[in-house]
Amino acid sequence: MIEYKVILDKNNEILLENNKTKIYLDPIHIVDEDYVFISHAHTDHLLNKAHLKKFNLNNKIISSNETSVIANIRGYNISNNLEPYEDIQLIDNGHILGSKGLLFNKKVFYTGDLSTRKRAFLNKPEIPKVETLIIESTFGKPEYKFPPLDKIIYQVNSLISEMYSRGIPVILMGYSLGKAQILTALFGAWKPLIVHDNIYQFNNIYKNFGIVLEESISLSRAKEKNMLDKKPWVLIYPLISGKHTSINYLKEKYGAVTIGFSGWAVNKNYCHIMNLDYVFPFSDHCDFDELLEVIKKSRPEKIFTVHGFQVEFAKHLNHLGYNAEPVNKLKGRKTKELKTYKNKTLDSFF
Ligand SMILES: [Zn+2]
Ligand SMILES: [Zn+2]
Repeated sequence: MIEYKVILDKNNEILLENNKTKIYLDPIHIVDEDYVFISHAHTDHLLNKAHLKKFNLNNKIISSNETSVIANIRGYNISNNLEPYEDIQLIDNGHILGSKGLLFNKKVFYTGDLSTRKRAFLNKPEIPKVETLIIESTFGKPEYKFPPLDKIIYQVNSLISEMYSRGIPVILMGYSLGKAQILTALFGAWKPLIVHDNIYQFNNIYKNFGIVLEESISLSRAKEKNMLDKKPWVLIYPLISGKHTSINYLKEKYGAVTIGFSGWAVNKNYCHIMNLDYVFPFSDHCDFDELLEVIKKSRPEKIFTVHGFQVEFAKHLNHLGYNAEPVNKLKGRKTKELKTYKNKTLDSFF
């Protein structure tokens, strides 16, 4: 009897299967009406909208309530339903509000986008011990090490304080969903606090789910009230190039400085490439050491790496004695069974 299988389909989507259930993990495309797990509401993890329309996925989508609400606001018509699937447990993965990893058959853990670092209202997640771990490897290279969060908070507050003493406004930049809410929580004490309209909308969703965030005013409201003329202020804005016309305008008209927050800021040229004044390596993903810590905790027999530096990370893990394979190496036109477990006997197809 087959306990479970890990499969890569012809569209390079990963799915898990046991005797009762077949479930896709964060697919962009699906081939039939199997169950679909959506780990969180970032658009690179949501099904293609046109594709979504083609299938009747009512009661086939597995996600947290928060993910479902945010995805619906972003125009993805999904509903979630969890009850009938005893083989499936959703586990907090610390990435953004409502993001989850999926524990299948109590033996396979798919991490989704993962951060094990406590950040404001997001807590360090519990990592389950499993046989098979499917782990994201966005920052799966040793050079991606992020400084402690306390140090970043201290440096950013010092920087804002210095700018405020000179009457200079500050633009804090990060992804609209996820990062911007953490920035609001960490630096919202600076007033007046203005946030980009998209971020304002996401902040409100977070608040509706009980997350405490400082009061802020949307950028369009602040403009109506001529608040920008009264310097200094803090504005939380999506992470875009400092050369973008909207940023250029704020820099030229108000003399604002830009501070970007991203894991990629580990790269020395990131600040220059993005045309920002300051950048800090601050991410909603694990850094390299944190990924290794997850693997130590979960003690898997088999590891599949997905996203980012999956080849490099798998190689590194193999050097450490783990059995790891990058999923993209296995790409093919035909569906492949990556791993089949039969009554506890390992039976690899590779
Ligand atoms: Zn994400
Ligand atoms: Zn992602």
